[in-house]
Amino acid sequence: MSFIDSWLRADIKEIDAYHVPQSDNLLKLDAMESPFPLSDKLISRYLEHLATVQFNRYPESRAINLQQTLRELMGIPAELGILLGNGSDELIQLLTLACGADATILSFEPSFVMYERVAKFTRLNYQAVALTDDFEIDLAKTLIMIDKHQPKLIFIAYPNNPTGNAFNRLTIEKIIAATNALVVLDEAYYAYADDSFLADVTQYTNLVLLRTVSKIGFAGLRLGLLIGSQDTIAELNKLRLPYNMNTLTQCSADFLLREKSQINKNIKRIIHERGVLSAKLQAIYGLKVYPSQANFILFKAPDAERLFAYLQACGILIKNFNNIPKLTHYLRVTIGDSEQNQQFIQTVKNFYD
Ligand SMILES: *Cc1c(COP(=O)(O)O)cnc(C)c1O
Repeated sequence: MSFIDSWLRADIKEIDAYHVPQSDNLLKLDAMESPFPLSDKLISRYLEHLATVQFNRYPESRAINLQQTLRELMGIPAELGILLGNGSDELIQLLTLACGADATILSFEPSFVMYERVAKFTRLNYQAVALTDDFEIDLAKTLIMIDKHQPKLIFIAYPNNPTGNAFNRLTIEKIIAATNALVVLDEAYYAYADDSFLADVTQYTNLVLLRTVSKIGFAGLRLGLLIGSQDTIAELNKLRLPYNMNTLTQCSADFLLREKSQINKNIKRIIHERGVLSAKLQAIYGLKVYPSQANFILFKAPDAERLFAYLQACGILIKNFNNIPKLTHYLRVTIGDSEQNQQFIQTVKNFYD
């Protein structure tokens, strides 16, 4: 037995490391990244801006300038507080750190895997309510679970990953009203969705939102935000490590996220491409394509396992869910630019021909 085997918490040993598939030389359509790089013109201005950075100093702790830029980009009102994280993943973890030792975290299944992982890291009890067959929240079942487990935190991805739909708004409102939990609406895909709970945060004292810039072109920055009432954010801020937002991220994000019109233009392009790709997928006999409010599409495919392998052999990486019981035969493709989507569609057609 190695040292670490005898030393480590047994429950950590049982967790598999977060798997990021090898993607060298592949067209990456697996991780909800934006296909659009920075323009050359922007890069040269950005590099000039970087020259002003003082790396000998610690970062600005609260990243006030960046907070203001995010408020303008996302329309976050001044009365709400913002807490920045090294990706929204870090904020999911921070929220669990705020819970007592025997607390329960409630979420849904299938949904974002990080809620359960982080609950395990922090040794909290995790409960998932199964979604209905059309991936909606089962309100009655959820209310029973809330009553039984009295959760401290409820994570709701809105829209949901990996299914792509936004749950019924009324159902979510009823959940928020029925629980003493802090309800975390994870709006990672807000930019691609028809609806948001941003305007509702002031109405519900137990509601906070998570957002990220990862899905709108800046996955490499690692920048997520928690939006809540000023007093909620002030207390949660105590759990943030003092310099979690490094100087390079702050300085880069503050510069790049001011390009609001370019960012919004790219979002519109993706939404347009989503419509095109969805229609083309639906036209392929045998595929069941789910409606999406995000920058990806979930579909059920005959022979999904072999299609996935074929795509990979043809140089295209998407996401395969055969290891998730409710999603066997399901695949998820991230929306790329029109050329990439065309390449993907043609390859899928070739497979079935
Ligand atoms: C991608 C994703 C995140 C993670 O975002 P990061 O800011 O990159 O950590 C959070 N929640 C959901 C639902 C996601 O799909």
